[in-house]
Amino acid sequence: MNKIKEANITGRGGAGFPTWKKIEMVDLAEGSQKYVICNGSEGEPGVHKDEYILENYPERVVDGVRTAMTYLKYSQKGKRITVKGYLYLNTRLYRKFGQVLRTIIHNDDIEIFHKPEKAGYIGGEESALLNIMEGKVAEPRLRPPFPVTNGLWDCPTLVNNVETFYDISLVMHNQYKGKRFYTINGDVRNKGVFSFPADWTINQVLIEVNKHLLDLDKNGHKYDFFVQVGGDASGEILNSSQLNRIASGSASITVHSLIKHEPMKLLKQWVNFFFRESCGQCVPCREGTYRLNEFLKRKEIDWSLFFVILNSTKESSLCGLGGSVHVPIYSYIENVLKKYSAKELNIPEDFYLSFRSEAEKSLKDGLL
Ligand code: SF4
Repeated sequence: MNKIKEANITGRGGAGFPTWKKIEMVDLAEGSQKYVICNGSEGEPGVHKDEYILENYPERVVDGVRTAMTYLKYSQKGKRITVKGYLYLNTRLYRKFGQVLRTIIHNDDIEIFHKPEKAGYIGGEESALLNIMEGKVAEPRLRPPFPVTNGLWDCPTLVNNVETFYDISLVMHNQYKGKRFYTINGDVRNKGVFSFPADWTINQVLIEVNKHLLDLDKNGHKYDFFVQVGGDASGEILNSSQLNRIASGSASITVHSLIKHEPMKLLKQWVNFFFRESCGQCVPCREGTYRLNEFLKRKEIDWSLFFVILNSTKESSLCGLGGSVHVPIYSYIENVLKKYSAKELNIPEDFYLSFRSEAEKSLKDGLL
């Protein structure tokens, strides 16, 4: 535990919670049965690091799970504690790596759990994942209590991402060098998953892999772009002058060429994703994402109403899915639409004006 504390590793699934603290919470929770679950649901579009890790370092992931299990089993002196481990995999990862992982696991203290395909994106949410494993409906639980005290079958449960267990293994074998995995997608030459220091800025990561982003065109202009960081659905949009910060969440970086992108296509893509993936448990998200999706199918869009619904979805949804619909839209308005003219963005003036003016009104009224 001291090694993990010193290494200061944090959850790589998106939340960034200190790993040692989460393990400690499960360790101190009452109960003679505990669970360790490696979350390999990787449902956010544009994020491929878990797949990359399981393809290249499956032993490390299993070793990280076993390390956590061993710690929880023996750290409470004089107490008899049973710990069971699970590798929770989406269909793609299950089909690709299930067999290999089975040969690495050897005995039955760790099992592979195949996440049902219909559980979708929400099936990767920590508490929905527990419901699925218990055979219940794939929807998030109300919290508190949290999974660290009342998780699988109401027992203390440690749920961490694939990369987090990979990091735990590196730390335990003194091989952790403060790096993390970045997925790079979009309008760049070199795409894929790359490992760089966790404290590198988005700029450093992008330039290291795609030096051509620094090239000037024949008129002496730099290639201009914006990025979506942390997933192609819920990730924040940043313009090219905002990249001197570290990549948050799952550290995926998708580059959009400023003149090639189509705002309506992006809006539809974001909203449609949340609409399709809403579990339907709470009204603001279920109805809100449905209405937003319907709005975007129309020829004439009432942007004023669009932003009212977007705001209520943000304010009243039960979990992070409904609570994130506004993130790409709001940050696109703030960091791209407000920074460039319609001409610079290569988009129709009438769309630009109506969308931007309603967005600004909503922002001014504190709606977003
Ligand atoms: S916010 Fe959406 S995904 Fe989350 S519980 Fe409500 S309906 Fe389900």
